[in-house]
Amino acid sequence: MLCFVKVIQFIGIWLQKIFTMCGITGYVGYKNASPILLEGLRKLEYRGYDSAGLALLNGSQLYLEKRKGRVSVLADEMQKHPFRAQTGISHTRWATHGEVTDANAHPHLSSDGNFALVHNGIIENYESIKKFLSAEGYSFSSQTDSEVLANLIAYHYARRTDEKCESRFLEAVRKALMHVEGTYGIAVLCRFFPKQIVAARKGSPLLIGVGKDEMLVSSDVLGFAGRAKNVIYLEDSQVASIAPENCDIVTIGNKQIDFVVSKIDWELENADLAGASHYMEKEIFEQPKALENAIRGRISDDLSTAQLGGINMTPNELRQIDRILFCACGTAWHACLAAEHLIEKYARIPVEVEYASEFRYRNAPLDKSTLVFVISQSGETIDTLEALRESKRKGFKTLAITNSVGSTISRESDGGLYQYAGKEIGVASTKAFTSQVAISLLLALYIGRMRDLSFAEGREIVKAVKSLPAMAEEVLKLAPKIQEIAKKYAKFDDFLFLGRLSEFPVALEGALKLKEISYIHAEAYPAGEMKHGPIALVCPECPTVVFANTDDVLPKIISNAQEIKARKGPVIAITNSPEDFEKSADDIIPLPKVHEALCPIISTIPAQLLAYYIALERGCDVDKPRNLAKAVTVE
Ligand code: GLU
Repeated sequence: MLCFVKVIQFIGIWLQKIFTMCGITGYVGYKNASPILLEGLRKLEYRGYDSAGLALLNGSQLYLEKRKGRVSVLADEMQKHPFRAQTGISHTRWATHGEVTDANAHPHLSSDGNFALVHNGIIENYESIKKFLSAEGYSFSSQTDSEVLANLIAYHYARRTDEKCESRFLEAVRKALMHVEGTYGIAVLCRFFPKQIVAARKGSPLLIGVGKDEMLVSSDVLGFAGRAKNVIYLEDSQVASIAPENCDIVTIGNKQIDFVVSKIDWELENADLAGASHYMEKEIFEQPKALENAIRGRISDDLSTAQLGGINMTPNELRQIDRILFCACGTAWHACLAAEHLIEKYARIPVEVEYASEFRYRNAPLDKSTLVFVISQSGETIDTLEALRESKRKGFKTLAITNSVGSTISRESDGGLYQYAGKEIGVASTKAFTSQVAISLLLALYIGRMRDLSFAEGREIVKAVKSLPAMAEEVLKLAPKIQEIAKKYAKFDDFLFLGRLSEFPVALEGALKLKEISYIHAEAYPAGEMKHGPIALVCPECPTVVFANTDDVLPKIISNAQEIKARKGPVIAITNSPEDFEKSADDIIPLPKVHEALCPIISTIPAQLLAYYIALERGCDVDKPRNLAKAVTVE
């Protein structure tokens, strides 16, 4: 029975958008399923995948089509062999186990032909299950871990001899999942139940879209392609039986769940390119707006501090914190490094930054008065989520900065700060990074003002923060100049990025952008480290991007640029002191003079543009970089 326990309306905020690697869509209703599923897959394409497939169910007839390559390849096949059905599941695969081949693409059929399954994630114990099932007579036609689950469900189904009641399908999936180690978001069809999809999740997001006389399943709200008005967020270890007019959810341990139905605000979920050539370009240019949203309502009336209700900690509790540990992956990890500078400088609290993927396994000793902060744009990054869970397990207070309202990390942390940066579709993160750093600055200000930061300093920072959107706008005007510079440098295959203090994270982020979308080898160092090794790379074929906007060390970084020049290395200076680089830089991207607290935000924007235009010059597929996915929900 569909149980509308509570309908939450998110008004005026960004509704949840869950990013995940690869994608799932499912449909059960009274319309032709195949175009709906294909449309859903197209909406999920941006996240990166290598093959696509779908399974349709009409009566007891299961139809399967899967192909390596783009969704368009699958759509072409469907045109050649149309199959009408009102129930179906589909998938975009990002291979973890088994090469990228048609056979390894999802859906997978159980060897008795009764079940079709799509799976996001990794079944860690698939080899032992496969051995067991092989001995039981089941066979396998792919190299994937996922296929074993289709057969395991078939095995549990076959073990029951009672009637084909609806719950038998759900029961088979539930029982199979009891034996699975690893992570999964799955959607399953059974030949005997033409109007039913069974879906489940653990560590990989899955949502149920509630439409009129139809239900959808997806790993991302975008996969509903605007069809469903309401959504049910499946939680970890829950299994749902989904029919056109109703939905039943139990835990893997068979406990009935009273679920919540939330409203989707499709206007806010609008994912158009809006005239831009790429999502990355669109999102770079959305930064003034994203920064404005990050700041809005978060400045105190006396303009001397921030107000950050979401962190759910009293000033007294915050004063007792001796250390902050930041955990994240990828670009968000760079945001953590920027946060480290800002918080240590303005709030005078020691900050440590960990890769979430390391922290979750390394059992680091933490002091009782440590506050754990995780940063994840999607709120679903598996390593970050597990780092958060590990910290909670050990009794630490955990907070999060995330861009996805309602995401798993936002639900499981003790409090946090939403970015409200709007949808980020581009695989290479841009506006999410600058907005994470802006929020970190607010945090530094907030905690700083509770401790040592003076009223006057607080006012200065607030003034700077308020100027952020306009400053970002100013920097974006440099785009044509940066595009010209990009043309000159696109031919190089190696780059160095140097920055000092809060611009070292910027250097890391600049190098990462270049690697991600143009496949150029790029390394980033604190400029002072150059002499300790990387200077050996300097030569006419290896340009260096130098960030020079932090007053304290400006003379030092000018010298670093000269040292590179003396060794015939081309230099691109991104600096608010262009006059100081006239001799040492081949090209200068002149930035406005801003309060130093804004440096890691303002200096990043030209680096994003440089990477973007270089990638364009090299003819790279900016929004679909090879091997990458938007957020990493498998290990
Ligand atoms: N592990 C599965 C495979 O390699 C699923 C990967 C995915 O999440 O797309 O096929």
